[in-house]
Amino acid sequence: MADRPGSDQVTTLDTPIRLDYHFSAGAAATPYLRGLAEGKFVGQRCPVCRKVYIPPRGSCPTDGVATEGAEVLADKGTVTTYCVVNVPFAGQSIEIPYICAQVLLDGADISFMSLIQEIPADQVRMGLRVEAVWVPPEERGPTLASVEYFRPNGEPDADYDSYKAYL
Ligand SMILES: [Zn+2]
Repeated sequence: MADRPGSDQVTTLDTPIRLDYHFSAGAAATPYLRGLAEGKFVGQRCPVCRKVYIPPRGSCPTDGVATEGAEVLADKGTVTTYCVVNVPFAGQSIEIPYICAQVLLDGADISFMSLIQEIPADQVRMGLRVEAVWVPPEERGPTLASVEYFRPNGEPDADYDSYKAYL
């Protein structure tokens, strides 16, 4: 048995796994994904409450109607909340500690998760103003991997009242 004292225990195993599948992005996500390949954030607006969602899911969760349009948003925003990752795990590609944050892009009404880099972990804070760092144009594609991370953009911290509704 593998758990007998003195036996050679297998604790991990690296094995290649591959899954091929086709993903149909749909009408809402297509402009968003194409935008990422062009270095732009593209959301959609609810025609009822006027909120802008990114990534767009095709409908407003409040009003239950289809979102529409292609709202090009700034590639800068505000850290609304964050966590400091200090726990190493298998396959980790980023040196710890690092920051996962919710970033509220200017003009958006929902935040999304992103890495924050180019700032010591103990200096990241709610309200920190950040900008996207895109991968080089030739490496961009219809994926959020086109955004390498966000970094401080030097603007003064956002006032709490400006983002408290998005926490
Ligand atoms: Zn709505």
